[in-house]
Amino acid sequence: MLKLDFHPSGRHFLQIPGPSPVPDRILRAMSLPTIDHRGPEFGALGLEVLRKVREVFKTQQSVVIYPASGTGAWEAALVNTLSPGDRVLMFETGHFATLWEKMARRLGLEPEFLGLPGYEGWRNGVQADMIERRLKEDSGHTIKAVCVVHNETSTGVTSDIAAVRRAIDAARHPALLLVDTISGLACADYQHDGWGVDVTISGSQKGLMLPPGISFNAVSDKAVEASRRAQLPKSFWAWDEILEMNKSGYWPYTPNTNLLYGLNEALDMLLDEGLEQVFARHQRWAAGVRTAVECWGLEVQCQDPSVYSPVLTGVVMPEGIDADAVRSLIYKRFDLSLGTGLGKAKGKMFRIGHLGDCNDLTLIATLGGCEAGLKLSGAKLQGSGVLAALDYFAAHPLATAS
Ligand code: PLP
Repeated sequence: MLKLDFHPSGRHFLQIPGPSPVPDRILRAMSLPTIDHRGPEFGALGLEVLRKVREVFKTQQSVVIYPASGTGAWEAALVNTLSPGDRVLMFETGHFATLWEKMARRLGLEPEFLGLPGYEGWRNGVQADMIERRLKEDSGHTIKAVCVVHNETSTGVTSDIAAVRRAIDAARHPALLLVDTISGLACADYQHDGWGVDVTISGSQKGLMLPPGISFNAVSDKAVEASRRAQLPKSFWAWDEILEMNKSGYWPYTPNTNLLYGLNEALDMLLDEGLEQVFARHQRWAAGVRTAVECWGLEVQCQDPSVYSPVLTGVVMPEGIDADAVRSLIYKRFDLSLGTGLGKAKGKMFRIGHLGDCNDLTLIATLGGCEAGLKLSGAKLQGSGVLAALDYFAAHPLATAS
């Protein structure tokens, strides 16, 4: 039999930036019996989940839920709105932006990939002024969509989406705005309607604190209108039949029933806490973790403090230290999983996730594992980041919403 419990005692520290640790309350909700997805109880569940999920996207418009990972929802956003050969403007913020660009090419679109030179783009956010300049040059409006990643999970940079909206408006350009907030949603503020986003893509396994397996497209009326003309082939991903059946709480195919129980519970948890409180909680954890990194004398991957991610922190390794060797040592010795450096960042940094079912002390333990692992790997640290973070958390209690 396959041995699935690899961890001898205590809970494993899953501190990758998603999948995030799932609260017991959600696991319990998911353990209920699977019901008939065409029966009356299911319709009530579907309607409730579809209503509440809009609040998290901050939208009054529709949210489509797929039984798929985030990559599927990326594809859904592109195939529902675009036609073969359409030009799309994308921005290289890191590994996930790169994968989305590759997908656009594979689907027969013509992506144009803007970015800062060299490795700089992987340490900064989307530069809205570059998007504005490019759109102003496109007087014939051949660019049909602008696609950006809100929280670049490979680097720990959260781009300013409102600024991208302003750039499109300043250029008086009709392109659709497609945004990936797979790892930003329910950790960092996100406003689908307020920022005039046409398609927002997200996933279950990050800020929503669920296991992997469902993903989302929040869609604007303009995007739905575009989907009526879009010519890329689509069937499973097509919004029209899903939106029609969602009116009564059902799906055209078998939905992910038990993950929807979990989603219902997660939405209750997030909405009861209050979204602004949820964002403040993640900001504070991120600030504590950055305090530790600074105290070690190491660099954070994100170079622009205005776009530090509240979801994860990329820790840049000192010269001569391989991030994956440190991660592997920490995993073996301290039962702690950290995110690997992806793509161009491979070996140069590791990522600490501060999302999902965490608290101050699980993060202190995480930083303890990192600190010990870095020392065992020969890194010369300037001070104890663990103590610095503990002091930070003690001195900055989370203001509770009244
Ligand atoms: N986009 C971002 C920003 C991500 O973080 C991820 C996954 O981590 C993806 C896209 C791909 O999502 P998935 O792995 O769920 O298909």
